[in-house]
Amino acid sequence: ASGSDENDVVVIGGGPGGYVAAIKASQLGLKTTCIEKRGALGGTCLNVGCIPSKALLHSSHMYHEAKHSFANHGVKLSSVEVDLQAMMAQKDKAVSNLTKGIEGLFKKNKVNYVKGYGKFVSPSEVAVDTIDGGNTVVKGKHIIIATGSDVKSLPGVTIDEKKIVSSTGALALTEIPKRLIVIGAGYIGLEMGSVWGRLGSVITVVEFAADIVPSMDAEVRKQFQRSLEKQGMKFKLKTKVVGVDTSGDGVKLTVEPAAGGEQTTLEADVVLVSAGRTPFTAGLGLDKIGVETDKIGRILVNERFATNVSGVYAIGDVIPGPMLAHKAEEDGVACVEFIAGKVGHVDYDKVPGVVYTTPEVASVGKTEEQVKALGVEYRVGKFPFLANSRAKAIDNAEGLVKILAEKDTDKILGVHIMAPNAGELIHEAAIALQYDASSEDIARVCHAHPTMSEAVKEAAMATYDKPIHI
Ligand code: FAD
Repeated sequence: ASGSDENDVVVIGGGPGGYVAAIKASQLGLKTTCIEKRGALGGTCLNVGCIPSKALLHSSHMYHEAKHSFANHGVKLSSVEVDLQAMMAQKDKAVSNLTKGIEGLFKKNKVNYVKGYGKFVSPSEVAVDTIDGGNTVVKGKHIIIATGSDVKSLPGVTIDEKKIVSSTGALALTEIPKRLIVIGAGYIGLEMGSVWGRLGSVITVVEFAADIVPSMDAEVRKQFQRSLEKQGMKFKLKTKVVGVDTSGDGVKLTVEPAAGGEQTTLEADVVLVSAGRTPFTAGLGLDKIGVETDKIGRILVNERFATNVSGVYAIGDVIPGPMLAHKAEEDGVACVEFIAGKVGHVDYDKVPGVVYTTPEVASVGKTEEQVKALGVEYRVGKFPFLANSRAKAIDNAEGLVKILAEKDTDKILGVHIMAPNAGELIHEAAIALQYDASSEDIARVCHAHPTMSEAVKEAAMATYDKPIHI
């Protein structure tokens, strides 16, 4: 099909927001076309984000464990080496399998797929320059913009994807750099810094703000930073990058205190710029149809994901809210449900966030700082993994569970977990929060022994009463 017949729904962008919206729309009986310029589905997340980074985090973790931890468990290896090419090949295989998997899902769900760059001609027509050099016009009653985001550049720092890389280049280095400087201590910088640090690079993280991952609960963040420092990561906080020189062999980075002061020079083989992401709408023709954006280029939508232009919607990283794949997916489903005359719902206050380092840090709901700022009276329950039997059994007992609940009602307000598998543990808390559960509700659920999840139960007990094991 050319996609030129009128669709009920046209989705521009095949990332987690767009491809999920397209599949859901088709499942709801709407004739749907998805336009993607990359030539592969899955967007930033699958191609150059979540998936390749998790592949490399896992592979580099295995190497690091083999080198530094296996012996503690009585497993002796005579030598351990990194084969970077093989590591990259495993990552690439994971990405291409998953990408093809989504194409398969499109076929199964009868979503029409047009490979090319889409731009609005009118609020119901998208002209596409197809990647095979042709062009076509795709018409739709409802058009969903799911064009996602792109790397945010830093003034004066030109990304060449060799010596000065974005996260995309950092996922495909051909050699392990001796020294890697990471600009920006958000989750992407810390994850990529962890990958290369485990493989042997000396990592220095330069951050303008006073803290790493500013959205994190401060108490958990402090423990997290200490843990990363123990692993060898160096932090230069409250520090501003003022110049870059790539003329020599490596890179010379000139920095100064954020508040101004004496300049110093840092040297590295590779510099990773991970100072955030910016909504991507280049060439889309938003002005032509008059779609409103905010000061930083995010498309403004109402609670039904509708823009100010009738029939045009937007979801995912290109609109305000957490810039995360699972949030984009939820947006996609809810947006299409509204279009189909049903009711959709996404609560941005209950979107879990995970940093996939070692240990992982995961959270859902409010931080203690946010609860304080709201003026709510609250209780805190904490439980360290040092007192959790499974964590001790596997000799991996760093971290804690911290639960915040309203003092009067015991209603859970936020949960923060630092643990090797925090990204999986957090969902019990996400369900509890979604169901307006109290900490006692969690504590009274029978948890299997011995599991790391028991620490969540114990932290819940500590919130309204007393834990057993500490
Ligand atoms: P995108 O995934 O950016 O997809 C948009 C798509 O639209 C792109 O494929 C683009 O080519 C296409 N497009 C744009 N304009 C046009 C056009 N005019 N015509 C046709 N096609 C167009 N999030 C998590 O939740 N967990 C993680 O672990 C995680 N790790 C990350 C690691 C890294 C290194 C990075 C960079 C990001 C990570 N993210 C993670 C964030 C996640 O990738 C994004 O939040 C998510 O991809 C947003 O989905 P989206 O569908 O809104 O946009």
